[in-house]
Formats: sequence, C-alpha cells, structure tokens
Amino acid sequence: MTTTYVTTTIPYVNARPHLGFALELVQADVLARYYRGTGQQVRLQAGTDDNSLKNVLAAQAAGIGVQELVDANAAAFTGLAEPLSASVDDLIRTSTDPRHRAGVERLWRACAARGDLYRRPYEGLYCVGCEQFYPEAELDGGRCRDHGTVPDLVSEQNWFFRLSRYADQLRGLITDGTIRIEPAERRNEVLAVIDGGLEDFSVSRSTERAHGWGIPVPGDPGQVIYVWWDALGNYLTALDYARQGENLSRWWTGASRRIHLLGKGVLRFHAVYWPAMLLSAGEAVPTDIVVHGYLTAGGRKISKSSGATVDPYDLVARFGTDAVRWWLLREVPRGGDADFTVDRLVSRANDELANGIGNLVNRVVSMIYRYRDGLVPDRAPSAPDAAALEEAIASAAGLIAAAVEDFDFRLATEAAWRIADEANRYVNRARPWDLARAGGGAGLDAVLAKLVRACQALGAQLAPFLPDAAARISRQCTPDRTGLLPRPAPLLPRITSADAAVRLGGH
Ligand SMILES: [Zn+2]
Repeated sequence: MTTTYVTTTIPYVNARPHLGFALELVQADVLARYYRGTGQQVRLQAGTDDNSLKNVLAAQAAGIGVQELVDANAAAFTGLAEPLSASVDDLIRTSTDPRHRAGVERLWRACAARGDLYRRPYEGLYCVGCEQFYPEAELDGGRCRDHGTVPDLVSEQNWFFRLSRYADQLRGLITDGTIRIEPAERRNEVLAVIDGGLEDFSVSRSTERAHGWGIPVPGDPGQVIYVWWDALGNYLTALDYARQGENLSRWWTGASRRIHLLGKGVLRFHAVYWPAMLLSAGEAVPTDIVVHGYLTAGGRKISKSSGATVDPYDLVARFGTDAVRWWLLREVPRGGDADFTVDRLVSRANDELANGIGNLVNRVVSMIYRYRDGLVPDRAPSAPDAAALEEAIASAAGLIAAAVEDFDFRLATEAAWRIADEANRYVNRARPWDLARAGGGAGLDAVLAKLVRACQALGAQLAPFLPDAAARISRQCTPDRTGLLPRPAPLLPRITSADAAVRLGGH
C-alpha cells in the first residue's frame, strides 16, 4: 500500500490569511485528492504557527492578549479549508495542541542526545519581521530586504544547532534525489547555500526577547525554542511523535512519500535546517520539497504587512469555490509568481468554466432530453469526426498523471480542459440539431453517446482540481438504472459584471 503524507506550511497568524496561503492549500489539496484517486492512502496536514514573535507584536499593536489574537486569526486560517473545499485530514495549532509542545521537546532532546545542541554567546542582526538573524551580506544598505527596516543588534547566550556537521550528508541526499526539490532552480539554490558553507545556527532566544511566548528549552527555562525549530517540528508532532504513536510509523517513517509544499521565501528552513534536524534526531527526511512562488495583487506584493491583501473568503463568497480554485490552478505557473486581479479571475471563470465546461454539459444533457427524452443512447458506434475528441479523452489521464508528478498544475488542468474544448468543437462540427431534423437515428445516437462519455470523462478528470464542480458534472451525466439522466440544471453559472462589482464587507 502506497502511503503519502502531504503538508502545507503552518503560517504565522498575526493577521488573517491572504490569497498566497490559499494557493498553497489548494495545491496541496490537489495532490492529496489526486493520490487518493489513484488508490493511495493519503494524509493532508495543515495548521498554524501560533508561537511566532510576530503574533506577539501584532497583539501588542492591537492592545489584546496574544492568545486572544492567535485564537481569532488561527480560526480564520484553519477555517479556510472549508470554503476552498480543501480535504485537510488534520490541523495542528502550535500554541494549543497538546501533541505539539511535547513533540518539540522530544525532538530537542533527540538532537541534544546526538551532541548537536550547545550553548554559546551570540551577537547578531535580527529582523523581527522575518524572525531571523541576517549576516551583513544579506542586508541591503543595512536594512532587511523584505521589510526595509534596520534589524536589531541582539546579544545573548543562545543554544546552537550543529548544522555544519550535516553539510556533506545533505548535499548527497539532494544530489542523489533522495530529497527531491522542485523546481530545479530551487534545488540549485539550496545546493549553492550548502556549498557556500553551513554554519551552526541559533535555536533559542531569551525568554525576555520572546516576550515569554513560545516553548521553553527543556532544562533551561530562561530560553525559548526558536520559533522556526518549533514550527518545522509540526510535521512530526502532528503525527504523535511525542508518544511515538502509530501515525508516526504510518505517515512518516514508513510512508512512501513525505511531501512538503512551501513558498520560496522559506526554502532554506525546509530544505536545509529541517532535513538536518531530522538527520540529527535519527528520523527519515522529506522525499519531496515543492516550492511555489509569490502572488501579487494588481502588481503589488500581497503581504499581511503591506496592506495589499486579497481575502480568499471574500473571493469565494463573491465568485464561488470553483472559480477561485480554477484561477489558482490555471494561471499560476509551475513554481513561479503570478499577478492576481478580479478581472483575470472572472474572465478565466466565464471563458472556461461557464462558457466552456458548464455550457457543454448543459447543452449535451438538454439535447438528450430534447431528442431522446433524457435517455442516454446505450451504444456508441463509431461517430464521425470524433478523432480529436477521442484523443483528448484518451490522453487526459496520462497527461494529468505526468503533470501532477511534475507538480505542474497548469499543465494538468490544461489536459482536463482540452476535453471540454474538443467536445464543444465536436458539437459544432457534428451539428446534432441537423441530424435530428434529418430524422435522428443511429447517427444522432452515436454523437449524443460520445458527448455524454466526454462529459463523464471531464467530471472524472476534473475531480482533483474542482471537486465541487466535478461532483455536479458527474451527477448530471450519470444515468439512473433505466438510463435516464437528471434534468439539466445550470452547473457553472456565468459571473455577471454586477457580481464582480459587488464588494463584500472586509473582515
Ligand atoms: Zn525582515
């Protein structure tokens, strides 16, 4: 039995989620649904990083308690799975889930027992926005490249992790493909970081600088575990790592694949620090590290701090789950960046979902009602001029399998879309209405049967990408025991300019 563990990163929750997190959640969901569809056992894991110092700063700015802020925003992140139809199996919250703290402590002790944790004085430039120390060389005129702020000079006794010990082993695991990093440019980026020399990194903060928030270092209550160590640990702690539970052996140690999805900004943490921590603790490393780019909104960087946010809840409320998922999957290039606008979402949804797919299914079922009283012709002798449509149907599964294996969601959805596109061309070529006027008969039966089969194939192939629409298409195109189809109903309505113009209240 193939078992596959798929994770999203756990975002920090200093504000409500934006569309960038929705992208990651939808991509992870497509993988999970696709693998389940091929008979694999799959666990899709998500959660929230509650222990970030950014959450503390946001709570201070809002004048509320940290737990209060974290609870409210974490609910907005974990709640996003439902409107996006993401089939998440488990959510972990690092501040409240009893599995997490005990698991992080166990991971710490495992690395300590290996001799990989030690104390020394540390002085460094720390960007609170990034929760990260930066060497001078990685700053721009002394300022953080992401935040434009001057990092704080911090000096204290910290715990360090002996990352330097794992450089050769990591390089070997990445170059021999044990850890696959996609796209290749990201893999090269990681190899360049390793070749540049890995230095031990600080894995604790003074409790004071952490504002008392986070997980204390086992045996050293004056120090809090670095939030990245804590957050990365979630991939294990959610599997009952603390108790060495059955989930750990099933979904980690014994899993066929351990797939992490993440944005390019957190690549080093996932592809260098995290595998090294696992090697130190004697655990298996991830098999796949899949990196996506960033979304912009109308040309501006989407970020929780910049104010340019696109609320995925609003988008789903205005345009529906299918339209939002379709934009994310159809327009964001493999591993690359994309610019979001409402106009692009609406034209993509209207052109392909409403006019292309929805209209096709509705047209086909309506013709079955008009010409055959709703009964699907039960035999499909070879229909004229159907070669392109047949090819689109026959090749879809293979093309989608290859594209998903390559984490290319645009290419995968293209293969499903081609069935609809070719079926619409086929309707226009075969002109069933002319065949009906000429008396119908076997020729019309052949065309209608072929079109119903195309719509059924479309419903099946769309299932991982548009689970809601695919289920409606499949229901609409599945005859009952007597061969009768459900009456035609609109499946994917057009978004009107009035829908697009309505602005719902922000959250
Ligand atoms: Zn920064």
